[in-house]
Amino acid sequence: MRPIEMICINCPLGCQLTVSRKADGALEVSGNNCVRGIEYAHTELENPLRRVTTTVNSGSMKVPRVSVKSSESVPVEEIFLIMERIEGFRLNRSCKCGDILIDHISGDIDLIATQDFTFSEGEVKI
Ligand code: SF4
Repeated sequence: MRPIEMICINCPLGCQLTVSRKADGALEVSGNNCVRGIEYAHTELENPLRRVTTTVNSGSMKVPRVSVKSSESVPVEEIFLIMERIEGFRLNRSCKCGDILIDHISGDIDLIATQDFTFSEGEVKI
C-alpha cells in the first residue's frame, strides 16, 4: 500500500498524517501529535464514520427548514439511506433543540433537532 496522506480533524491543530500498511498488515501512522490521530487514521481506513448534519422540511412557509444532526456518527455507507429517510420527512410540529425528530433513523441512532422551531398552523406549506 502506498502511503496515504490525510488530515486529522479531531482538533483544530489538524495534524497532517501519513498512513501506510506494514508487511504484517498493521497500519503505521506518523505525523500525529497525540494518540487520537492514530485512532482517526484507523477509523478512516477501516470504518469511516461521519456525523450527519443537515436540515429537514419543517412544513412551514415562514421557516421552511429546521437544522438537525444524527445523535452519533454513522458509517459513511449508511448516509445515503439516512438522507432518503430525511428527504421524505416533514416535521409539522414545534420542537426544541435536542428533541428526537426521527427515532432510530439508523440502528440505535436518532435524528435530533439542533434548533428550536415553533410550528404555526397558519403558515403551513402546501
Ligand atoms: S493527532 Fe491529536 S493533536 Fe493532531 S489533530 Fe489529531 S487530535 Fe489534534
